[in-house]
Amino acid sequence: MAVPTPPHPLSHLFHPHHAADYADTMRRGVDHLVAALDRVGGPSTGVAPGPAAKPVADVDLDRPLLDVDAALEEMSRLYLDDAVWFHEPTYAAHLNCPVVIPALLAEVFVSGVNSSLDTFDQSVGGTFIERRLVEWTAARIGFGPAADGVFTSGGTQSNLQALLLARDQALATGARPEDLRVVASTDGHFSVQKAARLLGLGDAAVRTVAVDARRRMDPTALSDALATIAADGHHAMAVVATAGTTDFGAIDPLEDVARLAHAHGAWLHVDAAYGGGLLASTTRRGWLAGIERADSVTVDYHKTWFQPVSSSALLVADGAHLGHVTWHADYLNPHDPTGAGHPNQVDKSLQTTRRFDALKLWMTLRIMGPDTIGGYVDDVVDLATEVGAALLRRDDVELAADPQLSTVVFRYRPPGLSVEEAHRLAPLIRSALHARGAAMVAGTKVAGRSWLKLTLLNPMATAADILGIVDEVVAIGDELLAAEDVA
Ligand SMILES: *Cc1c(COP(=O)(O)O)cnc(C)c1O
Repeated sequence: MAVPTPPHPLSHLFHPHHAADYADTMRRGVDHLVAALDRVGGPSTGVAPGPAAKPVADVDLDRPLLDVDAALEEMSRLYLDDAVWFHEPTYAAHLNCPVVIPALLAEVFVSGVNSSLDTFDQSVGGTFIERRLVEWTAARIGFGPAADGVFTSGGTQSNLQALLLARDQALATGARPEDLRVVASTDGHFSVQKAARLLGLGDAAVRTVAVDARRRMDPTALSDALATIAADGHHAMAVVATAGTTDFGAIDPLEDVARLAHAHGAWLHVDAAYGGGLLASTTRRGWLAGIERADSVTVDYHKTWFQPVSSSALLVADGAHLGHVTWHADYLNPHDPTGAGHPNQVDKSLQTTRRFDALKLWMTLRIMGPDTIGGYVDDVVDLATEVGAALLRRDDVELAADPQLSTVVFRYRPPGLSVEEAHRLAPLIRSALHARGAAMVAGTKVAGRSWLKLTLLNPMATAADILGIVDEVVAIGDELLAAEDVA
């Protein structure tokens, strides 16, 4: 038998000479993924960490397979076969969306051409595509012509950068570092606390204020917190309002929060990582009324815009504020005394080398249009409303609050079951459900009690799909109780 000649080491490089091999390899990859999709039988197999870790650890990385198909097969075993699939209608755990095909098409170019968006000379048209999308999103927010922004790796980074700008703005206007305070609601995202820590403000710098019955920031509590901060001689450097809280999808009263924040000289950041998709809705854009009064806004396109990870942006009302993150390096973006410098996005970003994630949103908008994306958002909001109403009519489950965006927080609690018991059972039900692999829900705590959460981001899921998960939850709860009775 003839011994196959190994490929030339350089043939692995993306290059016109290797175009045929590139196309062949990519097609094998796409075919492999399509075949894997055909085998998917649920959102997950429920594999435990131990068995998932073992085959990965067993691979000898110093002994390559030297074959595309063999590597694809191995990868399936280590990863694809037990992957969690966000397109499955019974995946209802975290804020992961099914992704749109135009964005996946863009990914081919994002990673193939591999532009880096830090400088114009590494990205050329990419810089202007990103800038157009920033302008477009800013216009949807209602910001004026001074607005600007930059794509980021996610809401965590967008929030960090927003608070960095707020901090440096406060310091530039004479506030003392030790006096700086940040105010968010108790339901704000944990990345606010994390950012405060990273920015050297300390954990005590973040003041959380109460939410109302619908889990929105209570303006009276905000007003009191701001008054206390001022009375103590401290400086409220930022108020963080959330437009779509992670658990309840609650949208803080943006008009009231803006008025109070600005009356106290605080920067207003709106964390619309989740609710930002409403900017594309033709029927619910009004839910974000007041967002245009923010100083900065976080939008996660990889949540409610159906984009693959990563795709997020920080938008600011006044682009001059981005100067707080500008640094001139002689080898990259030197100070140009003639003022004829290139448009370098690195001047606005915490990152240097940065993926051209904007191309995914661009292709999405050009192939599908924003109204279709907004329609998807409306679909999942409608779905949550329908599911919430159906749960209200049942006596074996309880709702924590009326659904607002696209989450439903509920728990198993048949007649006669105590609150304590419902709290104890919720995490047990969740792990049993996960182990069965047929559906995935999230868990959360409300006032120290465990609940279950459905996060609905799949416009193809139906109420019957989601109510089927609830039936499964109830069946598991009944089984657990019955098993305990026997014991
Ligand atoms: C998801 C989320 C974040 C964090 O965004 P990442 O993209 O996961 O970093 C921040 N705030 C809210 C309200 C979120 O839902």
